[in-house]
Amino acid sequence: MNLPQFFNNNLSELYDRYYKFVDRKMHLDISRSKPCQEQLDLSSELITCLNYRDCLASDGTDYRNYGIVDGIREAKKLFSQLLDMNEDEIIIGGNSSLNLMYDFIARAMTHGVPGINVPWMLSDKVKFICPSPGYDRHFAICKHFNIEMINVEIKDYGPDMDAVEELVANDESIKGIWCMPQYSNPTGTVYADEVVDRLAAMKTKACDFRIFWDNAYAVHHFSENPPVLKNILKACKDAGNPDRVVIFSTTSKITLPGAGVAMMAACKEIIEGIKVQLSMQTIGPDKINQLRHVRFLKNMDNIREHVKKHVKIIKPKFDMVLSVFERELDGKGMAWWNYPQGGYFIHLKTLKGCASEVVEMAARAGLVLGNPGTLFPYGVDPEDRHIRIAPTFPSVEELENAMELLCICIQIVTLKKYSDGTLLFN
Ligand code: PMP
Repeated sequence: MNLPQFFNNNLSELYDRYYKFVDRKMHLDISRSKPCQEQLDLSSELITCLNYRDCLASDGTDYRNYGIVDGIREAKKLFSQLLDMNEDEIIIGGNSSLNLMYDFIARAMTHGVPGINVPWMLSDKVKFICPSPGYDRHFAICKHFNIEMINVEIKDYGPDMDAVEELVANDESIKGIWCMPQYSNPTGTVYADEVVDRLAAMKTKACDFRIFWDNAYAVHHFSENPPVLKNILKACKDAGNPDRVVIFSTTSKITLPGAGVAMMAACKEIIEGIKVQLSMQTIGPDKINQLRHVRFLKNMDNIREHVKKHVKIIKPKFDMVLSVFERELDGKGMAWWNYPQGGYFIHLKTLKGCASEVVEMAARAGLVLGNPGTLFPYGVDPEDRHIRIAPTFPSVEELENAMELLCICIQIVTLKKYSDGTLLFN
């Protein structure tokens, strides 16, 4: 076979297909993980399920009034089950867990973590371990507070624990690690029991080191037999480090992202300390929204049923993305992708040095994907290979077109970059 001719033919065919997409003028933005309207409609009753006569607690407390900084009892009861915590180990907040994370770190900077109370900002440097690819908004918080980010590889079962243990054992300025233990954004990773145990038990040089356990997708399983995540707080208690972890979760992807309920859990002593700090910030969260959520979501069985309705809507979208990848890319050695068991993302990996160009090329044809660099600290993917697909917002048909376009871009960019033939024949 005449190799350059083979590549040229292939490339010109791909360019023909690409320019047909350019002519069609797609306008699709899947850069963020937004639920689609049908998903939002599943929670319509959230708006109407409470009337003005139903704003009282069983003890007569009127939730329309000021107070209760740590959230209403009914919400603690429900969401402590969601996170498998005791009711005195949880705080129910406003509508954003990211807000709770930001505030926790801001307070740690100025006043220290509860129980230690030495402001992080008095240290010469504050560093966080950032398993990557990860969540850009975690990295944005670090950048905002001038926290140095240390990139650690995320493997199939969680962060590279040998690297994590080595780092925290020797550097007192490392004060935190970001973890998304269930269906990590974007890799879909579920942390193995051994990883949970090692995080809980590892020796840390800093006594005010904390694990930031962002469990945003705790119930977002695609199957009836989902992977079971080990309880990190129990593991920390067993390891003699009960105050090591702060857990965050949210109903953003269960009810409404713009009007959900966020929560934060930790051992009782830490929760008490957070409450003291929180009471300087607010007289209390939106208790009416918390009560609405309790009335609407009712109990854990009902939450699981509600999530199944989401899955019925979004699973065909995930399946469509995967089927286009298989159809267009399987066996070509140009890309790798995961088959998530839950959560909100598909993680696509190109060959080295291709991801940004692929994303730029797709954007020129009207498909907006997230900038690949943002999956890494400081906005730089050292290998330029990771792309996050957030399939929930568009329709299945829109996704089919979008993913075909993406696969065409991957093939063009890869063939151009690896045009000496090494790609197809090794
Ligand atoms: N954590 C993770 C891992 C997420 O993926 C998201 C949503 N993209 C959030 C937190 C945001 O949560 P919230 O809406 O409660 O701020």
